[in-house]
Amino acid sequence: MAYLPEEIPGPQPTTEDRPFWDYCQQRELRFQRCAACRRFRHPPTPVCPHCRSFDSEWIAAPETGEVFSFSIVHHPAHPAMKGKLPYNLVVVDFPACDHARLVSNLVDVPPEEIRIGMPVTVVWETAGNGMLVPRFKKKETL
Ligand SMILES: [Zn+2]
Repeated sequence: MAYLPEEIPGPQPTTEDRPFWDYCQQRELRFQRCAACRRFRHPPTPVCPHCRSFDSEWIAAPETGEVFSFSIVHHPAHPAMKGKLPYNLVVVDFPACDHARLVSNLVDVPPEEIRIGMPVTVVWETAGNGMLVPRFKKKETL
């Protein structure tokens, strides 16, 4: 069962972020990187904010990211969330990708156990519109 109910709207890709979502549909997390100066950026943009190049490529993200920030939500911002409280929102940072960050959810961690810097790995869930979306789980450290 997905972390968020199916009534929550799924992504609606734009011209700029459609490649990101297309890779997600293949269960691949990739970030846009400038082909000229090789800096990552997210969300995707047509022009590199650093060197103004229009050339870009899509590079696979590393398996592990880390919690950069999080919030525990106690008020339902959408009627479908009334029975799901509290839920978390996390910002996952990928240091190896120039700190590209994603806003998502942790699917398997009680609110009181979420920590900044916690290593996390991607899991794929199906949103209400049928699209695969990246969510995260705590990385098991053995
Ligand atoms: Zn650049």
